[in-house]
Amino acid sequence: MKPAYEEERRKTPKRNPRHWLVLVGVATLPALGWAADAPTADQALKELQKGNARFARGKMLQLRRDQARREVTAKGQHPFVTVLTCSDSRLPPEIVFDQGLGDVFTVRVAGNVADVDEIGTIEYGVGHLNTPLCVVLGHTGCGAVTAVVKGAEVHGHIPALVDNVVPAVEAARHQHPDLSVDQLIPAAIEANVFQAIGDILSRSEEVRHLVISGKLRVLGAVYDIQTGRVRWLGVHPGQAALLTSSPASHGHAEAMPAVEAKHEAAGKPEAAEHGQAAQHEAAVHKEEPAKEKPPAKKAEPGHGGH
Ligand SMILES: [Zn+2]
Repeated sequence: MKPAYEEERRKTPKRNPRHWLVLVGVATLPALGWAADAPTADQALKELQKGNARFARGKMLQLRRDQARREVTAKGQHPFVTVLTCSDSRLPPEIVFDQGLGDVFTVRVAGNVADVDEIGTIEYGVGHLNTPLCVVLGHTGCGAVTAVVKGAEVHGHIPALVDNVVPAVEAARHQHPDLSVDQLIPAAIEANVFQAIGDILSRSEEVRHLVISGKLRVLGAVYDIQTGRVRWLGVHPGQAALLTSSPASHGHAEAMPAVEAKHEAAGKPEAAEHGQAAQHEAAVHKEEPAKEKPPAKKAEPGHGGH
């Protein structure tokens, strides 16, 4: 578990094998897999996988949610993962991954979309708090995606929100023209996860830099609200193209050519078997208006009147 490493790091800035052995021997720290300095993306992923397995089996440890943990985290936070997920009440990431206070830097928004505010928050998590892993977590039965798939009428500020989901649904529909509306929803949910990852990579130079330098991995996943299990989709199938395209083209996920995306997917065994093309299509069909919308919702200084 991470907190151990975190607390250990605080006490002993330099790696101390002897102290480490003592930690491993503590019964409440079953998953310690990383060194005392910092976890890797692999270690962070394994921690999430183990935690989700515990949760799905009903064997949660629910560690690090006590006063001792509050004392430690009050001095500063050192989460090991940044998670962008839906606001849906059925999937709080700390619970479904069985983690404690200070472990997960979370961004939650309906439809787990990656717009300006979400990307800015993610940049804080991966660039300032230095989490080695960023997960975009969609989920079965997502109301935001379902609303778009079914063409539900939305009001208020919701249209601006679901605009981010529309390209993913269109891509899924294009990829699976024979599916009924209900059948299309799972594919659209998966495409929407990759849509968000594509938006993050295409719009954030900082995230791209961290991924290229090997300091960050960005993965997609879908949580099943029925079984409690998280299905890992892997990296964005078009990641290589998103990372290498010219900076001038960023800000628009369509910078990722379809052929390159599929080629990239083939080379990544951990990538999703389904929805890759759809997701990639989603990125390709991402429309500029939706991407440029976010800045508009930010009131300019001096123009805060309504
Ligand atoms: Zn949702």
